[in-house]
Amino acid sequence: MTMSIYNAPLQDMRFILNDVFKAEQFWQSNEKLEHVDMDTVNMILEEMAKLSKNILLPINREGDEEGATHKIGADGKGEVTTPAGFKDAYKEYAEAGWIGLGGDPEYGGQGFPKMVTMLAEEMMFTTNQSFALYPNLTVGASLALLASASEQQKQTYLEKLYSGEWSGTMCLTEPHAGTDLGIIKTKATPNDDGSYDITGTKIFITAGEHDLTSNIVHLVLAKTPNAPAGSKGISLFVVPKFHFDENGNLGERNNMSAGSIEHKMGIKASATCVMNFDNAKGWIIGEENTGLAAMFVMMNYERLTMGLQGLGGTELAYQNALVYANDRLQSRSDSGVKNPDKSADQLIHHADIRRMLLNAKANSEASRCFAMYVAKQLDTAKFSTDKEVAKAANARVALLTPITKAFLTDKALESTVDCQQVFGGHGYIREWGMEQIVRDTRIAQIYEGTNGIQSLDLLGRKVAKNGGAFMADFIAEIREFVKNMSSEHSIKQATLSAANTLEGLTKTVLANISERKDEINGCAVDYLHATGYLCYAYMFAMMIEAANGKDGEFYNNKAKLADYFVARILPRINAHAEMVQAGSEPMMAFDLDYFKPAEA
Ligand SMILES: Cc1cc2nc3c(=O)[nH]c(=O)nc-3n(C[C@H](O)[C@H](O)[C@H](O)COP(=O)(O)OP(=O)(O)OC[C@H]3O[C@@H](n4cnc5c(N)ncnc54)[C@H](O)[C@@H]3O)c2cc1C
Repeated sequence: MTMSIYNAPLQDMRFILNDVFKAEQFWQSNEKLEHVDMDTVNMILEEMAKLSKNILLPINREGDEEGATHKIGADGKGEVTTPAGFKDAYKEYAEAGWIGLGGDPEYGGQGFPKMVTMLAEEMMFTTNQSFALYPNLTVGASLALLASASEQQKQTYLEKLYSGEWSGTMCLTEPHAGTDLGIIKTKATPNDDGSYDITGTKIFITAGEHDLTSNIVHLVLAKTPNAPAGSKGISLFVVPKFHFDENGNLGERNNMSAGSIEHKMGIKASATCVMNFDNAKGWIIGEENTGLAAMFVMMNYERLTMGLQGLGGTELAYQNALVYANDRLQSRSDSGVKNPDKSADQLIHHADIRRMLLNAKANSEASRCFAMYVAKQLDTAKFSTDKEVAKAANARVALLTPITKAFLTDKALESTVDCQQVFGGHGYIREWGMEQIVRDTRIAQIYEGTNGIQSLDLLGRKVAKNGGAFMADFIAEIREFVKNMSSEHSIKQATLSAANTLEGLTKTVLANISERKDEINGCAVDYLHATGYLCYAYMFAMMIEAANGKDGEFYNNKAKLADYFVARILPRINAHAEMVQAGSEPMMAFDLDYFKPAEA
């Protein structure tokens, strides 16, 4: 079996942290982050680099072959077994404290900022996307609890979640309700003791059942009797798999079970469960009918994480395609024989192979930088003591979250396919591992709100709703940055021009929206992509500025990669802008009859 290789790109990570975002300076200037120092952070990165390479990568491919399995146990309840090696890896992972890395120290977390945890997450997603989902759902659930649960609930759950003794889930989706959570049917009936009886079926629940932890804490969206219709009538409940006493000792099983697991295209080692709740006992988090807002805390976090899943897929695909392109001998180079002792030259000499590799490399570097930019905004929003600064950071996070989720994962699938293509036919064969990366990465475009829905969120809620104010602020920041650049690299002008494109495009689209009802829906995806390319241009500008004046191949190559981006990737922004300008009419011009399925 061919084994995938992975070496954590620590030099790139440190470049982004230290040179581009001046992390240490940022932490020192924020009293709530003063305790974070670069020596510790370097140790964290090195430890995760080892763990992901030595523990998570080796079980990635077997996990895909074996998958998670489901059976009905002696007690009539569904049981899920994770693939060989997952239990040991999880134990090691949890015991080393990784799950609580960004957790609140008041409840046993380690309090590291997102700028640090995102790099650990990247490495984990790079080496094992299925595995990464188990702890990530736990981290997301603890964030939702931290934001909205009562003090007693926090005391009860957070420490056990951070330590990895228990795990978390988010139970939103139902068979008839995915995107549109306003129409969920799961019921929550209040009991006299303050608890609720939860009844309903949730589907597609990641880590809904598994054998990695002693208890599973489900966060479930449900409707109380007489709740208002739609998304204003949704409440959030915490529903543990096992009941427990005040010391956390597990008791009886709650009335719920995993009815089955899905057979999927990828992330096969991640158990995607149908969860049947049958008068399961649950406790409300926050007030009735505020559940969706509470859940959004978790969802926003997960959306950034999905961007990191995409980055991980890209990085693994790129590193392995690079090995192949250096080994595989096929055809002579157009510019003359490079390998006279052999009958052919290595793939890496062909310009088209380089195109595919550089697409992936540019995506990996820009998306890591962008994720770090968003992480810094998240940290500013969370830790800044200046209310105005925190508010501005929150607005920036709101604007960029759909881009982090959708653009990073769309570009990731493209990158993984490019890298698979480098392998020719071998890329399609299981033993090389490339087709698994493509299959695993594909889900990131779909779950956590499809990329189409992310685009609607961007153009509808984050741009149109405030007349483009968030976008105008972002463009102003980009212009200011570019104006002050000391480097004269072509990225400077290219970024400015991309910012102008977006400014004009936003004006056009806002004008069209008022006349055409379907305009947002019809333009959103291309608008998001145009914005995504602007964001990447800005990231390359930041990287170039940070590399400016520094000697060495590493920095020179940053300039060359930015050249490649400007010449061979960024021009796509114009195509997306043209498509947005064309609007929704080309789709809506058809009569409904045109879309009638063929009759037999
Ligand atoms: C492997 C896996 C793991 C998952 N894990 C979880 C989990 O842990 N917890 C959980 O609750 N859910 C989970 N999900 C569910 C996932 O979040 C949903 O599948 C997703 O949000 C889409 O919902 P849906 O499948 O019902 O599609 P639908 O909502 O039916 O959407 C179908 C298509 O229509 C589009 N669409 C819908 N509405 C509009 C609109 N207004 N305008 C334009 N287009 C629209 C969508 O973009 C999509 O392309 C998971 C799913 C999978 C496959």
